[in-house]
Amino acid sequence: MPGHLPDATGFALTATPAGSAAEQPGTACFATAGPTTAVTLRAGDWLWTGFLVSPAGSTPLPGVATDGPTTVLLAGELYNQDELVRAVGDPKLADAGDAWLLLACLRRYGPHAFRLVNGRFAALAADGGVLVAATDHCGGVPLYLAVGAASVSVATEAKALPTMADGPHGQAVTGLRPLRGTGAVHQVPAGGGVVVEAAAGRPRTRLLRTWTPPLHRRHLPEEEALREVREALDRAVRSRLRTGPAPTAVLSGGIDSSAVAALTASACPGLRTVSMGTDLRDEFREARLVADHLARAHPGPAATGGHTEIRIDTADLLAELPWTIWASECTDPDVVEYLLPLAALYRRLPADRPLRILTGYGADIPLGGMHRDADRLAALDDAVAHDMETFDGLNEMSPVLSGAAGHWTTHPYWDRDLLERLLTLEAGLKRRHGRDKWVLREAVADLLPAETVRRPKLGVHEGSGTTSSFTLLLREHGVPDERIGAAKGAVVRRLYDRLVAGGAHPDEIDLGQETKAALHRPDAPGIEGGTRGT
Ligand code: ATP
Ligand code: MG
Repeated sequence: MPGHLPDATGFALTATPAGSAAEQPGTACFATAGPTTAVTLRAGDWLWTGFLVSPAGSTPLPGVATDGPTTVLLAGELYNQDELVRAVGDPKLADAGDAWLLLACLRRYGPHAFRLVNGRFAALAADGGVLVAATDHCGGVPLYLAVGAASVSVATEAKALPTMADGPHGQAVTGLRPLRGTGAVHQVPAGGGVVVEAAAGRPRTRLLRTWTPPLHRRHLPEEEALREVREALDRAVRSRLRTGPAPTAVLSGGIDSSAVAALTASACPGLRTVSMGTDLRDEFREARLVADHLARAHPGPAATGGHTEIRIDTADLLAELPWTIWASECTDPDVVEYLLPLAALYRRLPADRPLRILTGYGADIPLGGMHRDADRLAALDDAVAHDMETFDGLNEMSPVLSGAAGHWTTHPYWDRDLLERLLTLEAGLKRRHGRDKWVLREAVADLLPAETVRRPKLGVHEGSGTTSSFTLLLREHGVPDERIGAAKGAVVRRLYDRLVAGGAHPDEIDLGQETKAALHRPDAPGIEGGTRGT
């Protein structure tokens, strides 16, 4: 029976043509916590060997479905099961589990099945001699791939790929960029799959695009736009709830997370909310205002499950930098700053039971919420288009960030259906009457305190004081103000090289030493007058 978390949350597997000698790799290193199962599995004409990670309490071969020549491994979950059950015409599949549903879609549509799916997943499928490694429309569960002379290795974390530690060998994969520091490891693009066929014993790859952000825009009457956004957000939230323990929402009291929390509280009883702050800054008052409002709005059996505040000292927050990079495998210093407070928060949640966490992360991208000066609609649309062209590979929504603490997160604003609707709204609905994210604010105004609906945007890195703490660390190392941005990049890349490419564990990292080393490299932007790194 499917539990309240996905059956599998990660994997690292090597596929070799069945019949060839395959060795079981000795270990695999995942940041994702949870029992790791060693697997040797016949999948179509391939042999899969490697490891699966699954939340505690899952089945023996979690996330795997096999029927004759077709085998599917799914790390993550699907959100449009009803549609998929209709597509394959078998109502029995409604309760069979997501891997079985995906398998039925693959039997019917081949690799094109991935075009139908709205989900948060990375998958590996074998159908006879064809292998497909695919991720969802937004690369929500990152997926990495390395192609050897006669084998293909695929993993949800780059550091877990057997080739990672062995240095650069393996084939180039057409259409895919190799990862920093490797010649052989490639990331599967968002809305993409790599199809592999063994031709005369050698794997031949081609890229299959399954989703691309829409470029067109729609003008809708206000009322219609508000109804559409409300209904699509409500669907996105509901499709992310599961029977079992009540979910948790990470709540800042900003409009994005408050809207998600309010719709979750309406959809199921027992919602817990949690808010983080540091000694420098917090949004506790704003978050509590929302939590209290929801508690009053849902009395009796529909009651919410309580609100918690977690304060983290700045020094402890910065100590999470290696964990954040280890988990997200991200090299972008701005994104790492957004993710750091969340990684720190997830690691301070109760570890005794895995949680299903909903977040408001990601709403600003389709709604242009980060661009406060975008009074000109063209500038706002430029910002949205730029963000959609550059999000891929940043791993902003990687589940490993919470997975490192044993929890599963999901991001309703990047639900495929809602994201498409938000992206295609003309910019005048996003900024209206001098307010950013107008259409979202108005769409949920009846569910929240008026103060919350009006509250200006405050980024997670600002509300938690993260930006200031990282800046302070670099000032302490003597970095002048005009070089702080470049220095942050150098530190993040240094940590990535040690942790992801180099295989170190975050607990082995001395942040002070690594910062010094990053700043004093000849190409680094540190105190010795180096030039900006690449
Ligand atoms: P707004 O964008 O209007 O400020 P928001 O605060 O909900 O709304 P972001 O600032 O973009 O959204 O933050 C991204 C997400 O990270 C939030 O939706 C929320 O889920 C989570 N988050 C941000 N700050 C905190 C915090 N201090 N405590 C708990 N969760 C937070
Ligand atoms: Mg905010």
